[in-house]
Amino acid sequence: MECMEGQTLSAGLAKGVAVVVGYELQRLFPSTKKEKQDSILSADVHVECERMDDALEKSKQDLDTFNAVAAEKPSLAAAVKLLSAHATMASEIAILAKERVSSDLVGVENALDSVVSQWVSRLQQIDNEFLRERETDVRDVGQRMMRHLLGILPTRHIDFPNGAVVVARELVPSDAIALSSSGVVAVVTQFGGKLGHTAIIARALGIPAVSGIANVIQRIASGATLLVDGESGVILAEPTAVQQTQFDARMSDARRQSVLEDLVDAGPCKTRDGTAISLLGNVGLQGEIEQIRRRGLAGVGLFRTEFLYLQSQLRPVAEAQRHIYAEMAEGLGDRPLVIRTFDLGGEKLPPFLSLDSHIAPSSLNLRGLRFSLVERDLLREQLTAIVQVAQTADVRILFPMVIGSHDFKQAIAVVEDVMKDCDAIRRPQIGAMIETPAALFDLDAILELADFIAIGTNDLTQYLLAADRELSAENDDVTALHPAVLRAIEKVVVAAKRWNCPLCVCGEEAGEVEFAELLIGLGVHELSVSPSRAIAIRATIADIDLAVASVLAKRALTCQSPHEVRELLTQASRSELQTELEQSSSPMLGIGP
Ligand code: PEP
Ligand code: MG
Repeated sequence: MECMEGQTLSAGLAKGVAVVVGYELQRLFPSTKKEKQDSILSADVHVECERMDDALEKSKQDLDTFNAVAAEKPSLAAAVKLLSAHATMASEIAILAKERVSSDLVGVENALDSVVSQWVSRLQQIDNEFLRERETDVRDVGQRMMRHLLGILPTRHIDFPNGAVVVARELVPSDAIALSSSGVVAVVTQFGGKLGHTAIIARALGIPAVSGIANVIQRIASGATLLVDGESGVILAEPTAVQQTQFDARMSDARRQSVLEDLVDAGPCKTRDGTAISLLGNVGLQGEIEQIRRRGLAGVGLFRTEFLYLQSQLRPVAEAQRHIYAEMAEGLGDRPLVIRTFDLGGEKLPPFLSLDSHIAPSSLNLRGLRFSLVERDLLREQLTAIVQVAQTADVRILFPMVIGSHDFKQAIAVVEDVMKDCDAIRRPQIGAMIETPAALFDLDAILELADFIAIGTNDLTQYLLAADRELSAENDDVTALHPAVLRAIEKVVVAAKRWNCPLCVCGEEAGEVEFAELLIGLGVHELSVSPSRAIAIRATIADIDLAVASVLAKRALTCQSPHEVRELLTQASRSELQTELEQSSSPMLGIGP
């Protein structure tokens, strides 16, 4: 038995069998040459060379498949050229690797590794940026062949058996989405933060996820029985019979509890002193609409539409999207459906886009609305679907990562143009996500244009604190509880009040009890949370005294660190504050709600 402790990304308990996936091969091709001993007999040379030929053949088949997709689109002409260059490169690498197998009598993986490493380090020394950048292509081609040699597939190609616990160094969002159609019961990784999209997807799927386990793919063997505790972040590998029995009992209790929760009539969502709070849900999968209903949520405050297409080889067209949005809107009845347009780019690059040579996979490359304004056709297709559904349902448009009034205005113009094309009469409400630092400095101009705004604290935190949200599990300073983020939120709340513009907070941490209380104290009356957090947050809200929450929030704004904010929110200091308030002649210490 081995016990490992990590951070919880998605709550819940699961018992299953480990399936270790090692799709990340970059590190097989370091830029400095490695010396490896992996000698073979001369009699085995031809077998190794045949393996290389086989890997080359399969790599070329992959490239042909991509080519077929790229050839259909004029804007992908550059990708078609690149793919043909990759095929030529693959043949050259294979020839060199086979030569090395027979001259050095080494295994073909070793030969491939050293050929690619040598090629890469030669390119790195060239004083020409264009040629130096070809290094990435060489690595890519090498990785593809290595994958075929080792029989290691990207996770999206694996058919996971029922009861599988996926164990990986990290999962990108498109890998995580692939889990939705499989029998995976939990995810255990080395990297990945609570605010990252992979964690968000795990929560949407309702499966526990734990990250922060060092060397996880070395420590857990495929086939090992695992107990995954998404409440405490503890993983037990090869547990004893007693541990399994105890865990089984906890799982049964949790199942019973969740059935009971579903039966509870949610009732109106109000603070202890009767202030109504609108509690909505964040969704990324069509099936989550059922959760919105079951948890008595007031509607969908954020639909992350890009999740629908993270695995798609083909560009999404209006018709298919119209069906999905219409079905979801119907499932919600009178409740609103806020559809966020595709928030693509960075780590969210579906196959239909990753072939485009002008789109680099970087979190600070084209993102969100800026991406959509470049990929206008994609945006127009999506807006057409939304506008059509909005003619008969309460469907609203939300643009992600708005930078300022300039890009927001362009986005609104596209909606209006699409409306003309569709002969639409009803203009859906149009909102802006406030999640970039730039937007904080153009708030009035954005608010003048917006029908509503939504604060995305995941990205706002990431970009304000210059810390990757995917790594937040390793650093508890990277949180919306950081006073800098709280001050930013306060600024937005004040501006939204001035413009009388509805405001919602939809970052993941709105589903955390302490942060939700601070938000309400700051004057936020609309929260959109993961449906799995609805019951806990509703209970928190019911327990909130608005006067106490306002004072707590004001004090939090003067703190210097998340640690200080957390101290402030402890039960002891809260009770102290309550007493102070009760004794004070001034009902709110001079601070209004
Ligand atoms: C956010 O950034 O807070 C947000 C809600 O959007 P996403 O998590 O999808 O980036
Ligand atoms: Mg965001």
